[in-house]
Order: sequence, then C-alpha cells, then structure tokens
Amino acid sequence: MKAAVMHTPADGYVDVKDVTLRDLRPGEALVDMEYCGLCHTDLHVAAGEFGEEPNRIIGHEGIGRVSKVAPGVTSLKVGDRVSIAWFYQGCGHCEYCLTGRETFCRHVLNAGYNVDGAMAEQCIVKADYAVKVPEGLDPVEASSLTCAGVTVYKGLKVAGIKPGQWVSIVGAGGLGNLAVQFAHNVFNAHVAVVDGKADKLQAAKENGAEVLVDWHDGNVAEQIQAKTGGVHAALVTAVAPSAFNQAVYSLRPGGKLVAIALPQGDMKLNIAKTVLDGIIVAGSLVGTRADLAECFQFGAEGKVHPIVHTRRLDEINDMIQELKDGHVVGRNVVDFVHSV
Ligand SMILES: [Zn+2]
Ligand SMILES: [Zn+2]
Repeated sequence: MKAAVMHTPADGYVDVKDVTLRDLRPGEALVDMEYCGLCHTDLHVAAGEFGEEPNRIIGHEGIGRVSKVAPGVTSLKVGDRVSIAWFYQGCGHCEYCLTGRETFCRHVLNAGYNVDGAMAEQCIVKADYAVKVPEGLDPVEASSLTCAGVTVYKGLKVAGIKPGQWVSIVGAGGLGNLAVQFAHNVFNAHVAVVDGKADKLQAAKENGAEVLVDWHDGNVAEQIQAKTGGVHAALVTAVAPSAFNQAVYSLRPGGKLVAIALPQGDMKLNIAKTVLDGIIVAGSLVGTRADLAECFQFGAEGKVHPIVHTRRLDEINDMIQELKDGHVVGRNVVDFVHSV
C-alpha cells in the first residue's frame, strides 16, 4: 500500500512509498483509509522538531473503514467508520488516563509521530482508541474534526467560555476557522478574530465573527479592547510567538489565554499585568476520545463545517509547501477513495 513516509534525516518533506504493514496484534484493527488531512503538527514532525523517526508514516487526521479486526476486539467490527487521531493510545492506567486527561499520559502514542499514521492507504489502530464516526457526518469533514476540530473544541472548553461572552480567535487558518464556528454555533459566544490575511478574515466573518482585526493595522490588543471591552478568553491558534503577547493584552480582567498552537520559543508574560488583572494562562492539547465523540456529534448536527479541499496523495509535498507558506484556507485533505 502507498504511504507518505518522512525523510531520514528529517527535512520537512516526505516520500510516497510502497509500504507493507505488520500483522495485527490482539486488540488491533486494520483501517482502509478514506481521507486524511494535513496538519501543522505533521510539518513539525516531518521537520524532525520532535526528534528523528526513521521511516515513519505521517498523518493523524485519518478517517476510514475497518477492514479487519484481530482477536480480542469487541469495540469495533468490520465496516465501522473510525478516526485516527493524534492521541492514538494512552497507557490506560496512569493518573491522567484515569481522570479524563488521557492526552497528557506520559506513555502516550501519537499517530504519525511515534507510531505509523494515517497518511496512507491503510493504518493499524488500537480498537478501543479509535473513535467511531457517527452516521450523518461527511467523512471528509470528519477528517478535519479529528484534529483541528477537536483541538479548538477542547480549547474552548478549557477557556470556560459562556454564552454571550467574548472570545478572540487569534489566527484564522485551519484551526481558527473551525474555532470561530464552534465559538459562535456551539458555545453561543461573541467572536473577535485576528489574522493578517483578508481572505481568512472574510471566511471568519461568514462563519459569524463580529469583530475582525488585521494584525497589519496597528495595535491588535488596543483594537480588541476598544471593540469588545476586552475578551473573556483568547484562543491562540497562530504559530507566531508575538500573537501570544498580543492576546494577553486583549483580555479583560479575569480573562483566560488558551494556547493551542505549537510555535517554538517562549511567550512573554508581564507579571504585574498577570497579577493585577488576574490573568489565567492555560495550554490545551488536542482532545480525549470523549471530546472527539462530542465534536463529531456537533459536526453530524451541522453546527460546524470544516473548509476542506481534497487532493491526491502524490501532491503531498506541494500540500506541505502550501501549508508552510500560509496559503491554505481551511484544510487540504488527501482523498484515498477516488484518487490513489
Ligand atoms: Zn493535526
Ligand atoms: Zn496513561
């Protein structure tokens, strides 16, 4: 089967190769991939930023049908449509796995990073960790909800945003566009959006954002303060560290900054500002299996629609380049059904 395999040494790009998967072990299932989205995290992995992973198949926004199950599998059957997410498997018995925080398990496996991922015609999953895709949810849209969708949904849960409150979404790309939809349609919040690209701001407006701020137009925090009185929460999806600093100053007292993007480097946090305004800073990492099931259900109910563009697997390095260059509105998704 064909798969997108990262280079050794890692240089940010992949080769499409013929790969033979190992046999299934007890508790595992084989998934025939239908769609897999390309995510910024794949770029970090393929560039070796998380360490060398020789011959690793990338991809963690996969949707497909179960084609085979190993002995001991009771949670899936052949024909089920399931997802392959960044949170591939936890240990199942640590403090984090037992308290609804399984993505922080210290023995976590992540698809497309330390276990082979979903940017391939087939992928092996641990059956109990593959979240089912509900009827009525378009599998192409489900691929984006598997990572971008659940990441922003969980981020908004961590933000504790309430109906009628203001939330700023910093960065309106693949993550940010979905965050606007979840904030507006699921959390019933007022939404301010910060980005530097007119087409991304326009897409956010069409999804319900009321305040649009172009970061080329002067002081972002002052503009947000003037238009909203300060946001109750800021969800930072942008990969520029400066976006984090602006987001802190756009908060109202008691506000919460939630970081979900993964830029290298540090964020500046003024201690006096933090104390005097009671600022809360939190990181939020993808979502648990339960978060993903909730996220899928909102998708099936039509409350969120990822912007997706289907592509061919042999275009994967072009897709990587376009994502690096910031030219993607929504998500590029490889279509394994019609085009391999
Ligand atoms: Zn992702
Ligand atoms: Zn664990």
